[in-house]
Order: sequence, then C-alpha cells, then structure tokens
Amino acid sequence: MPSPSDLGPPPQLGYVDSRLERAAELRGDDAAMRSFSAHPGAGAYVIGGELVVMKNQGERGEPLFAPDAARALGAVRESVFLGLADGAPRFGFALDPQAVEALKPRTDLKITDLRSIAVQGLVEASHLPPLAEAKALLGWHARHRFCPNCGAPTQSVSAGWRRDCPVCKAQHFPRTDPVVIMLAIAGERCVLGRSPRFAPTMWSCLAGFAEPGETLEEAVRREVREEVGIACGRVKYFASQPWPFPSSIMIGCHAEALDDKIVVDREELEDARWFDREELVAMLERRHPEGLTTPPPIAIAHHIIRKFVEDGADVIR
Ligand SMILES: [Zn+2]
Repeated sequence: MPSPSDLGPPPQLGYVDSRLERAAELRGDDAAMRSFSAHPGAGAYVIGGELVVMKNQGERGEPLFAPDAARALGAVRESVFLGLADGAPRFGFALDPQAVEALKPRTDLKITDLRSIAVQGLVEASHLPPLAEAKALLGWHARHRFCPNCGAPTQSVSAGWRRDCPVCKAQHFPRTDPVVIMLAIAGERCVLGRSPRFAPTMWSCLAGFAEPGETLEEAVRREVREEVGIACGRVKYFASQPWPFPSSIMIGCHAEALDDKIVVDREELEDARWFDREELVAMLERRHPEGLTTPPPIAIAHHIIRKFVEDGADVIR
C-alpha cells in the first residue's frame, strides 16, 4: 500500500482556520461598534443570497470593500460584525439578491457563489472563513425576520448576533445545524455513495443531519444504516468544517462497518459501493481509469477519504 508521503502535503480544507478575533464581548457595546464603523481599516464583505460581490482583479477577486464603497453597491438590508483582523473591524453586509443580480453586468466587479469561490480559489484563502461566517449569519437573518414564537417582526441586535421580538420579548440566536459526514470502513475497504446531485463521476462520503435527541455517534450509525443498510460499531471523530449552505457544520467521522452487503436507499442515493484504498488513491490523484473522482480538497469529504488512504483501518482504532 502507498505510504502517506505518496499523496504529498495535505491540501487546504475550505472555510476553516479563521484569523478573525470575534470579539464577542464587544457585540453589545454600541460605542465600540460606532467607532469600528468609522475605523480607517474597516472592511465589509458584501453578500446577496448565494452570491458574493468582489472587485474584479482578473483571475481573482478581492471580496473586501471599504464600508462606504460597499454601501455604494446597493441598499444594505442587514449588517453584522464578524470580528477583528489584526485590530481592523470586519463586517458582513447583505444586499437584496435581486440588487446583486443587477450588478452582474459590471466589469469592475466579479460576482459568483461561495462554493465556486472556494473550489476555484478565486480569493486569497484567509477570506474564506469570514465569508463563510458572513454568509451563514446573514442567511440566518434573511430567514428569521419573524418571531417563531408569536409571529411579530423581530429586530437585529448585538451587532447582528441576536434577533429580539419586541412583542413577546423572546430572544433568538443564530443557528448552526450539525451534519455528520462519515466513511464506513472494513479493513482495506470503505463505502462511498453518489447523490443524484453530484457531477457524474464523483463519489463521496455518506452524510446527513444529526436529529434531535441523538448523539453524533448515533447519527453516524443511523445514517449509514439508512442509506446503505450497513450496521456500524466504533465511530471516531476526525475533524469539522463550517459549511454555510445555508448554515451547517460538517462533523467528519470514520466508522467501523460491521456488515458486508450494501442495500442502497434509492430515495437518497443514486448508488453506493465498496472502494479499496488503491482505487481511492487513483481517485484522489485524478488518474482513475474510469475518471471517477472524490470531492475537491476544499470539502471535508476529501480529507476524510484521504485520512483513510493514509492510515487504513487504524483510523478507527
Ligand atoms: Zn415574539
């Protein structure tokens, strides 16, 4: 079997390793927020629905605007404080998605979705975590304008980190939805599946939302059993990744498969089958004879698969 060095240094996972100091203790400090808005180094990320607005710099885009320049792009519907980058305040501004669509013809701007930005490396990597933070938080605001308790319109407070209901006084906090994403392993083999939404050659880890009242380990075992009919024993946590589509955190695990026979849930998956480590190496290195691939390195699935290729069944010991 290949040694770990065969795959070279690990590629960068997307949306992780934020350099921002979130400075949560200052969110309720109106005077601090006013001074941050006027700070000469202040910068804002501009988002409309799924789209991110960037300055066009040829191959790449620059997603950080001076606040005044960001406001000149359109009416800011929501503003959130993301944190401090070496002491310089960073904000997320939401424009109406239609307003951002209308900016698309401008050649001085580059406008695309955050997945494409990460996959194609369109921005300097340090921008990806704050963009993910801004997109998830602004998306939460867009979907929580009314109180789930009494139906009254809610108001953004605490620099965008809470919405308060003026009628029933309920406080609502931004949510992050846990998704377990896992690789079921037996010896030299593991199970990958294909969603009908995937590119035709791509195979990936199984995944699903953790449900109320279950542990992450239980969620892993349930999802694998539901999707491919395989019972799992040991579950080992590997790593996690913010996934702002719209507001998830991906919790990556390896799991010990106890059965051999795959029974595919065709409602969820187009197909699923066993892959051995040698075939996975070919997929990771993009030289599989049938052109099969893993997800790109920005996605945690790539790293979960790669870890199994490197360490084999030791990943669940
Ligand atoms: Zn209410």
